[in-house]
Amino acid sequence: MHKILNYINGEYCEPVSKEWIDNFNPSEGVVYGKIANSSSEDIEKAYQAAKKAFPSWSNTTIEERSRILLKIADLIDQNLNKLAEAEALDNGKPLSLAKSVDIPRASANFRFFGNAITQFSSDAHESVGLNTMNFTLRQPIGVVGCISPWNLPLYLFTWKVAPAIAAGNCVVAKPSEVTPMTAYLLGEILTESGLPKGVLNIVHGLGPSAGQAIVEHPHIKAISFTGGTKTGEHLARTAAPMFKKLSLELGGKNPNIIFADCDYDKMLAVTVRSSFANQGQICLCGSRIFVEKSIYEQFKKDFVAKVKQLKVGNPFDDVNLGAVVSEAHRDKIESYIQIAKDEGGKVLTGGNRVSVKGFEKGYYLEPTVIEVFDANCRVNQEEIFGPVVTVMPFETEEEVLDYANGVKYGLSATLWTSNLDKTMRMSKQIEAGIVWVNTWLNRDLRTPFGGVKESGVGREGGFEALRFFTEAKNVCIKY
Ligand code: NAD
Repeated sequence: MHKILNYINGEYCEPVSKEWIDNFNPSEGVVYGKIANSSSEDIEKAYQAAKKAFPSWSNTTIEERSRILLKIADLIDQNLNKLAEAEALDNGKPLSLAKSVDIPRASANFRFFGNAITQFSSDAHESVGLNTMNFTLRQPIGVVGCISPWNLPLYLFTWKVAPAIAAGNCVVAKPSEVTPMTAYLLGEILTESGLPKGVLNIVHGLGPSAGQAIVEHPHIKAISFTGGTKTGEHLARTAAPMFKKLSLELGGKNPNIIFADCDYDKMLAVTVRSSFANQGQICLCGSRIFVEKSIYEQFKKDFVAKVKQLKVGNPFDDVNLGAVVSEAHRDKIESYIQIAKDEGGKVLTGGNRVSVKGFEKGYYLEPTVIEVFDANCRVNQEEIFGPVVTVMPFETEEEVLDYANGVKYGLSATLWTSNLDKTMRMSKQIEAGIVWVNTWLNRDLRTPFGGVKESGVGREGGFEALRFFTEAKNVCIKY
């Protein structure tokens, strides 16, 4: 049985307590490894390593930092199969998805920020007529904390640590205890890349102990967090009185708004993906589908027919959906299907467990489409984060805008229309950090990424991330 060790100061090590937690394989429903159950002592060890590495790393030339990040990207690419297999096993997602999305995106993150840092610059302001010159220094913060969730394990972990180290910080990072495997494997790649010891320390363990210790650490000065809204709220309560810089990427309940004038076939194909990719466990999935009344009945028929064709099964087979991430998460998703029924929702397809031959203990669920009759029902308001979408008709732009904005979240929205004026009107009024028009999950890494309302605070991506991971200092010179 494998052991997920911490990676501190460039070396793998056991947790100080020598305590372990179980690592589950969700496609088989069995424990297949042990994870370091780190405590504040391990976080302190990681912090000390990071602190020691900081003076040298923050003075390493941009070219050298960039070279190392690009090398990490290349090494991830070279290990694509190994990492994708590890991700599929640890998370339950189809191997094909890990190979085509998760792992390529992890290397893209390092490659992008390895290049971006060479183009990052700051401002100068001449106070004309006053013999005064100002320039802005953009300095690394010091030791920063990065905490990531289980749904896109290596993808989201690297999305944080890559800009943090590119900007010259040293990092104490914690991946989710539900899916720690690929972040663990990244340690070998970091060593091989020549990244100096202590620059990136990866500590494993539970949120309330290991994660909390990162957030509470008095000298870890910034926290970049992706996870649930409740956890984000708790984190903010701890970190805000310590005046830490905070970036919070939280939950979503994203609307997928379909107008009758859209390219119907394209919309239908993408809507199947935006509903059920990664078993619906992507914060950007369009879990509330609103369809213009004139095509509603047709849409229901065609969408349900397509969803029924999706194959659920062992992630290593040719399937569309694998297992959901854990038993507890499966139970949560099922409880929402029950809530939907209790609230008068109509299950159009799905709603049941799937028994996969040879993998009977795995956590498999049918992709589920529920017709709801009230935009304010719980399944339309609360994040389920599984293979469950709701459908509902609308008649006017005003009405669907009310539905779209009538939740506490504001992460992303998808809009399907061929009308430019409507695109502009809707895009401006939708309360979300991203509006995709006639597309979904289409990402240019230079764009700002993040949510409004209870979907988060701050933006990641491009120079926004490099700004977050640096402090701006104004130097004012009188001559
Ligand atoms: P979670 O909040 O339970 O855990 C996220 C991370 O926080 C884990 O590493 C966990 O160990 C850690 N954590 C938990 N309690 C902590 C504490 N007290 N102090 C410090 N760290 C703590 O979230 P999850 O279940 O892993 O992920 C699913 C959630 O993440 C969903 O709500 C989803 O919408 C959200 N998400 C958001 C984005 C985004 O970009 N906005 C992306 C992916 C996932």
